[in-house]
Amino acid sequence: MEENKLICENCGCVIDTDDYSEVNGQVICYDCIESETTLCDCCGTRIFNDDVYGDDYTTLCPYCYNNHYTRCCCCDALLYEDDAYHLDDEDYCRECYNDECDKFEYIHEYGYKPEPKFYGCSERYFGIELKIDNLKKSL
Ligand SMILES: [Zn+2]
Ligand SMILES: [Zn+2]
Ligand SMILES: [Zn+2]
Repeated sequence: MEENKLICENCGCVIDTDDYSEVNGQVICYDCIESETTLCDCCGTRIFNDDVYGDDYTTLCPYCYNNHYTRCCCCDALLYEDDAYHLDDEDYCRECYNDECDKFEYIHEYGYKPEPKFYGCSERYFGIELKIDNLKKSL
């Protein structure tokens, strides 16, 4: 059955055994699997070496990299989301976070709430209310 033959979408060889896998929806022969792909350390998905995110120690697929990992804004270290420290909307590794805290003597103020802001519209509303009050008085 000619049409049932699988062609490796990477090297173009005919696959006539079960030694193949699908990577990104592409049929890839076993040789190419061995030489061209690797597994995501986070979710186990097989990915092409060209699609590997992460660093020398952690192999990540683009999905896991974007959804579960971040980088220290200071030293560029790869961080798992739960291991990242947050300061001023930036992600830091533990070391850089401590450095930043020392540098700026940043003090955690638990329960700190910013002053409520008054906007122009609330002043205008206040003004209208005054006018209504005056109207009521004149009635
Ligand atoms: Zn191949
Ligand atoms: Zn992954
Ligand atoms: Zn860092």
